Amino acid sequence: MSDLEPKPTKKPKIPRQKMPEQDPIQRAHNFYEVALGYENDLALLEASRCLQCKKPSCMKGCPVEVDIPDFIQLVKSGDLMGAAWKIKEKNSLPRIAGRVCPQESQCESKCVVGAKGKGEPCAIGRLERYVADYAATHDDGKRPELPKPTGLKVGVVGSGPAGLTLAGALIKKGVGVTVFEALHELGGVLVYGIPEFRLPKAIVRSEVDELRKLGVEFKTNWVIGRIETVDDLLEKRKYDGVFIGSGAGAPLFLKIPGENLNGVYSANEFLTRANLMKAYMFPQADTPVAKGRRVVVFGGGNVAMDSARTALRLGAEEVTIVYRRTMDELPARTEEVHHAIEEGVKFQLLNSPTEIVGNDSGWAIAVNLQKMQLGEPDASGRRRPVAIPGDTAQIECDTIIVAIGNGANPLVPTSTKNLETNKWGNIVADLETGTTSRDRVWAGGDIVTGAATVILAMGAGRKAALAMLNTFGIS
Ligand SMILES: Cc1cc2nc3c(=O)[nH]c(=O)nc-3n(C[C@H](O)[C@H](O)[C@H](O)COP(=O)(O)OP(=O)(O)OC[C@H]3O[C@@H](n4cnc5c(N)ncnc54)[C@H](O)[C@@H]3O)c2cc1C
Repeated sequence: MSDLEPKPTKKPKIPRQKMPEQDPIQRAHNFYEVALGYENDLALLEASRCLQCKKPSCMKGCPVEVDIPDFIQLVKSGDLMGAAWKIKEKNSLPRIAGRVCPQESQCESKCVVGAKGKGEPCAIGRLERYVADYAATHDDGKRPELPKPTGLKVGVVGSGPAGLTLAGALIKKGVGVTVFEALHELGGVLVYGIPEFRLPKAIVRSEVDELRKLGVEFKTNWVIGRIETVDDLLEKRKYDGVFIGSGAGAPLFLKIPGENLNGVYSANEFLTRANLMKAYMFPQADTPVAKGRRVVVFGGGNVAMDSARTALRLGAEEVTIVYRRTMDELPARTEEVHHAIEEGVKFQLLNSPTEIVGNDSGWAIAVNLQKMQLGEPDASGRRRPVAIPGDTAQIECDTIIVAIGNGANPLVPTSTKNLETNKWGNIVADLETGTTSRDRVWAGGDIVTGAATVILAMGAGRKAALAMLNTFGIS
């Protein structure tokens, strides 16, 4: 046992190791990654905090069931490639999950080190990121031996985390996979939504390349529902199954007066322009996205934080997030809120936008706000915001980003025969198997659940892959 490892009977005395980050003042003006990752010593120290529980509860918090104590044990023993392959047995996208998973509410929330008041939980996500980055930069070319092709083939609609995870799980069992992606880049929200400073595009590309090396075929600029339909994939292309992972890419609006003024963006449009049109390489690349001097963002989730921080990096002088509840109810990851505050994003809490004011040329110049207070909890469990009559305010601004949520992409559900959808347009699918109302059609991720998280989409992809394999008679 090394000096760094805890004596099994004693609680760990070593504090959770902080991950080095770019200085907030500097990073607020560049698109380089904020979190810099562990160096080897920090990773070893952090790994030594894992108690190697016999009945590990952390794994219950992981929707793809990564063997967490096993991979951490391999880190402790110095076998980092072994640790990486241990993770990849269950998670085909560990460099991504290690960066954007809400670990604090998943695996780490169940870690015994944190749960029993013994200290902060083991930094499982940071270790996953460290191991996966190590494996990517020390690639020894070795790949797990794949079984002989079964001759079965599956079509996947959408290359987000749900589709990519399913593709990885099937190809490792000898099932041929073709992923059809509407956009020119693969990765779904991972490339068009989540900004470079949180998840570099090169990392998504390297994870996709891993799948390509295993034999997954990708077709970009391929809009299913227009070029060909899900029914075509089954009947003309003779796929044995189709998985729909087309996500929730349709932006929602507040439907308040002035939302169609110039200078008002949906977060999707703003982030897609900034991310896919290379504003993240600013100033080397020019983009047609308005930089904005005073920017207001509506919403309190990850999408709102990303929009606000992207606006800052594009050169805004002042960025304000307007949210109806308080800091305690913000749905964004704690780390992202913390980073936004450090970078200078302002928060106008307990305020709800009622109108966007325009000038004579049709450009937005201000937002009218209604002050709120918190009432009883609503169906989401969060306290409902209630208007305080007569208490209003106004913020001057030139750019407004609406980041209040996304709905289902309608094209695939509406162009597929007899596919059951719910009142929000999401596909009705069994959450444990991904099966839909159509034989040989499975679905998962945001198109089923509505906008959720990367790891839940990955979990859905994995469950659907297992169900498909079961249907195909492959164990
Ligand atoms: C800005 C932003 C930040 C986020 N931050 C986080 C975070 O920090 N942590 C986290 O866990 N989650 C985060 N999320 C949520 C997370 O990204 C999503 O829950 C997840 O990506 C859903 O995965 P998916 O595979 O279901 O769909 P998506 O990632 O949406 O991928 C769907 C893909 O299908 C393609 N597609 C759609 N229609 C068609 C068609 N007709 N034909 C072919 N292809 C089609 C789309 O182009 C897209 O590439 C964030 C979301 C956004 C928007």
